[in-house]
Amino acid sequence: MGSIFDKVNLHNGVEMPAFGLGVYKVEEGSQIEETINTALNLGYRLIDTASFYKNEEGVGRAISSSGIPREDLFITTKVWNSEQGYESTLKAFEDSIEKLGIEYLDLYLVHWPVKGKYIETWRALEKLYSEGKVRAIGVSNFKVHHLQDLLGQCSEKPAVNQVELHPLLSQQELRDYCQKHNIRVEAWSPLSRGRFLDEPLLRQIAASHGKTSAQVILRWHLQNHIIPIPKSVTPSRLKENAELFDFELSQEEMKVINGLNKNQRFGADPDHIDF
Ligand code: NAD
Repeated sequence: MGSIFDKVNLHNGVEMPAFGLGVYKVEEGSQIEETINTALNLGYRLIDTASFYKNEEGVGRAISSSGIPREDLFITTKVWNSEQGYESTLKAFEDSIEKLGIEYLDLYLVHWPVKGKYIETWRALEKLYSEGKVRAIGVSNFKVHHLQDLLGQCSEKPAVNQVELHPLLSQQELRDYCQKHNIRVEAWSPLSRGRFLDEPLLRQIAASHGKTSAQVILRWHLQNHIIPIPKSVTPSRLKENAELFDFELSQEEMKVINGLNKNQRFGADPDHIDF
């Protein structure tokens, strides 16, 4: 069943928490600090931010005042679309770690596959990685064809691909490709922002375990070896979302949830981004 401190191995040997906290739309200032404080006390160790979220400084303040040793934390940030390109990515990285107040990053991601730019952006990530400034590099919102393009041109392959993934968008083809190439899949909007929690089959499975639909969905991610990073600012939900390690879904239940897929995106299609 595991524990909140479980880790998974990335292809370069770095260990990454199997579960984490996403902080998109968590406001800079007291909200981000209180949220991270609560999460760290509950055992969360992976924090997923981005320069786009405009809360890296608050993340930095919260982790530095937590007293948790830096090596026990796993901090992810991302290079935003307007920052992409070789030199501008190197600069964006320096800005991010300065705001975060840390000397190295655990995982740096290319936020979206910006056409004509993501290869140069990736080369900058390779440089940061070779210099030891970031322990692992990865991508986000890459489809199979973006990964094929990257793998065909670059020397370092991504350790992680963070994509929209939940029971309504189970991304099986992409997951199979990533597994074949030893790229870990991380799920954003792992709860599809709560849009699906009333689904009767999920409620039924949840009731039989004395759990909530949100916990069942997050457990489904874990048992599929997907790293979920649910977001909440509500202490009771932060706690609920972390209580995933005292039950297990049966193979039958996993199949039922797998069967809910509708290839339904709520976020942007990475082939058609206009931001
Ligand atoms: P999510 O699926 O984590 O949903 C979060 C929302 O669901 C909350 O705001 C709340 O309204 C609700 N919720 C959370 N826990 C709940 C519970 N236990 N019961 C009922 N409702 C609950 O969606 P998200 O915030 O889009 O994604 C999570 C994280 O993924 C983000 O914070 C961010 O770090 C990352 N992300 C990355 C990208 C990307 O392009 N790489 C895009 C979006 C999000």
